[in-house]
Amino acid sequence: MAKPDIGQEEMVNVVEAVRSGWISSRGPFIQRFESEFATYVGMKHGVATSNGTAALHLALSALGIGKGDEVLVPTLTFIAVANSVTYTGATPVFIDSHPSYWCIDPSDMEGKTTERTKAIIIVHVYGHPCDMEPIMKLAREHQLHVIEDCAEAHGAEYKGRRVGSFSDISCFSFYGNKIVTTGEGGMCLTNDEELATKMRILRDHGMNPRRRYWHDLVGFNYRMTNVQAAIGVAQIQKMDRLVATKRRVAETYGELLAEEKHLTLAPEMPWAKSVFWFYSILVRTNDIREKVMKHLENEGVETRPFFYPIHTLPPYHKDLNLPVSEQLSPRGFNLPSGPNINDEEIQEVAASLSQALRSTY
Ligand SMILES: *Cc1c(COP(=O)(O)O)cnc(C)c1O
Repeated sequence: MAKPDIGQEEMVNVVEAVRSGWISSRGPFIQRFESEFATYVGMKHGVATSNGTAALHLALSALGIGKGDEVLVPTLTFIAVANSVTYTGATPVFIDSHPSYWCIDPSDMEGKTTERTKAIIIVHVYGHPCDMEPIMKLAREHQLHVIEDCAEAHGAEYKGRRVGSFSDISCFSFYGNKIVTTGEGGMCLTNDEELATKMRILRDHGMNPRRRYWHDLVGFNYRMTNVQAAIGVAQIQKMDRLVATKRRVAETYGELLAEEKHLTLAPEMPWAKSVFWFYSILVRTNDIREKVMKHLENEGVETRPFFYPIHTLPPYHKDLNLPVSEQLSPRGFNLPSGPNINDEEIQEVAASLSQALRSTY
């Protein structure tokens, strides 16, 4: 699906980190990674974390979200988004997807905003940006905090501006299959110095930065190691290439599959620059997805089904009707989209897919 692009630069940095003895969560690569990544996205402060879920939990905690609060979240995404809300004691309120580009639908948010709503987490799903203008307008009107989950969208843009630069805090994941990886890892970005300081303290057990072992509050251990950051620093240097590759893979799939009338291909709205994290497609009817995926598996092609809407999963099961997400989920799946996939492999995948569709319909 997405073998990471780990090369000589990463190895050189990792060896340097290991040789220096700074293999834990202090060392020069951490600050370098934080500041270079923040600069790339267009935010002032970076706070590196142990993973992307920790980044979301840290962001919500720093914003003071807790028991009795409600947080609007998209239902069609990875479960970590809802879980991070649950960890704080707050309640996730699920929002449907937009039918054209699959991210949170701004028109479904207003009606679900109550007195208790304190924040919105939006997710740029599968690398496609959310429609930020109506989201920020709603947030201003109701005085809600906005957290952007950019775990799948490093380098994506909304109207020419990088995602991760719109919100109070944006959160990234650097898991092995994400566009930039540190193995496991994450980061929170913000322009607010106070929030950055608060996140640094919470990341380190709530310890007072000027008074060792004096803990003003209950924090977490959500630190990133210098070894992970060493990989991250090397990854940033090739970020433009990593993003360009994702877009080229999508363009190639798009050309090869353009004539398949049973497919809906990964969208890109006129205002969007998607980074096509995993190249995503929909089959026309949900009864054939498993057959098509099975056919591809037999041909040696790995695929991933779309996420289940979170409101249909056991920990969050609610009698909700979010029809767009419920119709998208069983029809969607992702094709191999790693940074090292070559044209020949893309052609093979597309040919297998076309064959699968012919034998199924
Ligand atoms: C991957 C992902 C996460 C979680 O990141 P981890 O680093 O695996 O904890 C959160 N949100 C979304 C949308 C993701 O895709």
